[in-house]
Amino acid sequence: MPTSRQVRGKEGLMTKKERYTFVIDWFQKNMPDAETELHYTDPYELLVAVILSAQCTDKRVNMVTPTLFQKFPSPESLATAKFEDVEPLIRSVTFANNKTRHLIGMAKMLMEQFHGEVPDNMEDLVKLPGVGRKTANVIVSVVFHQPGMAVDTHVFRVAARIGLTTNAKTPLQTEQQLVANIPKDLLAIAHHWLILHGRYICAARRPKCEECGLRPACKFYHSDMRYIAAANLEEE
Ligand code: SF4
Repeated sequence: MPTSRQVRGKEGLMTKKERYTFVIDWFQKNMPDAETELHYTDPYELLVAVILSAQCTDKRVNMVTPTLFQKFPSPESLATAKFEDVEPLIRSVTFANNKTRHLIGMAKMLMEQFHGEVPDNMEDLVKLPGVGRKTANVIVSVVFHQPGMAVDTHVFRVAARIGLTTNAKTPLQTEQQLVANIPKDLLAIAHHWLILHGRYICAARRPKCEECGLRPACKFYHSDMRYIAAANLEEE
């Protein structure tokens, strides 16, 4: 009697290399122009938007940034802003209090240590208040077109489900495995591929596997985990 895994096809038994090749080919064909959904016009605005987007949706961030950028169009203007001038503008975003402090602190440091310019390297970027490795990676890859893989909750989950990562326990481990297997010139766009796929198809609670073009390569789809997850959801 064949096992359920065998019944679901040999595609589920792809090697990691084959899986990466399939996934990259699929995204190149189906999402050739993937990019961030945050609205921005310069590196400063993207940095502000990415700080605001931590544990918040891009849609929500895009609702507050037009007024914020109008009132504080540069690091110089934001560096001298008062908490009470900024917080009301971003109140609908998660963790508005902390993010207000981070934004003002970030702008101050840009003025005091970086001549008002957004740094182009990870080492300096992570010194800025509110900027962790993920945010810094977004800036270096999107603004400065350097190879970088920012790992957020979508990238972490989708990479693990597909089987692009193995036993990655932290965002850094996910980043390291993806960087080791994705060609350097595709790292920046691969970050957007995985985020958008996680946002619209491979959702955390209910992945839309039946609509997903990555099924032939997806480890999760070809494993019993999928059925266990579905059963758990039905019980809720
Ligand atoms: S097949 Fe399902 S689990 Fe796999 S990537 Fe697609 S949506 Fe996610």
